[in-house]
Amino acid sequence: MTETAPPTPAADPALPERLARAIALAGPVSVSQFMAAANAHYYATRDPLGARGDFVTAPEISQMFGELIGLWCADLWDRAGRPDATLVELGPGRGTLAADALRAMGQAGFAPPVHFVETSPLLRAAQGQRVPDATWHDGVDTLPTTGALIVVANEFFDALPIRQLIRREEGWHERLVACQDTLFLPVAGKPVPDAIIPDGLRDAAPGSVLEVSPAAVATMRALATRIAAQGGALVAIDYGHDGPALGDTLQAVRGHGFANPFEAPGEHDLSAHVDFGTLAAAAQAAGAVAWGPIAQRDLLGQLGIDQRTASLARRHPTRADALFADRHRLMDAMGTLFRALAIAAPGWPTPAGFGE
Ligand code: SAH
Repeated sequence: MTETAPPTPAADPALPERLARAIALAGPVSVSQFMAAANAHYYATRDPLGARGDFVTAPEISQMFGELIGLWCADLWDRAGRPDATLVELGPGRGTLAADALRAMGQAGFAPPVHFVETSPLLRAAQGQRVPDATWHDGVDTLPTTGALIVVANEFFDALPIRQLIRREEGWHERLVACQDTLFLPVAGKPVPDAIIPDGLRDAAPGSVLEVSPAAVATMRALATRIAAQGGALVAIDYGHDGPALGDTLQAVRGHGFANPFEAPGEHDLSAHVDFGTLAAAAQAAGAVAWGPIAQRDLLGQLGIDQRTASLARRHPTRADALFADRHRLMDAMGTLFRALAIAAPGWPTPAGFGE
């Protein structure tokens, strides 16, 4: 492996100052503006993944994760009649999942061109070391307009900005982020129309929080529209729920522990639980078919993680204990918290793992 630790540029001390100044001039900003600014800075200035970083993701735990996702892609492409297709990954991190998936896909006879959607220049460089022939995009709109798109997104949607709406006695309000001296804190802002709150949740108890992610919905809608027209499929894996549902899930992670999401913007990874129910509805409204969400452990189980673990352990007996420990992390520690949603073009086969 030619991995060299990417440089960690000194944090931009100006981000909290810039945000504080903007708030002093124009008033509090929405949670989504705060989260977008903080995460853009966070991902642009460091590699957050791995033991020395802030958090570890499934592809960084074990090569088996990317390999099984690669087999999911190759199997679907094969059963769809082997059309012209592009592999797309959203937020590929270090490129580990893509490299593992491409190796497994190649063995199954599927070697598509690779397109990455990634905004961080630093992570683009890391991805280029593992998948040198990739093409990079800032967003989904510039992805190829012909041929099927087979799209993979692991821990991508959770990083997209959310709005938080908070219920008060007299109705729902947008939650904003204010700044006192140098301390950022959430405050209730202007009322929002009741009509934007889903029916069953409108009369929630005061203090209830509803999160919505216009950015995630817009991304899903755009991809579903393309997939319905061009052919293809998408699998998104993340921690989340089959919502919409109430709950304040905005969290900040640093050094494998939790921090206050409103402190030190840009120095923590900010994320929120993904509302898979709303994303599935957005995909269906755009003309795609949706399945799930199902538990990560059910998906990996159906894709053959037990057989893969046993076969790797036989070939590398000295690594057997570590392989079974990795399997345990993916299946038991993360297995039910993390879920998978699949969508496909009408007429495409049911993706592996998502059948009856
Ligand atoms: N999928 C990887 C990395 C997850 S971290 C893994 O499982 O290990 C989130 C990834 O999404 C990072 O690559 C980050 O730079 C990228 N990202 C975050 N917000 C983004 C945005 N708005 N547009 C494109 N990429 C984004």
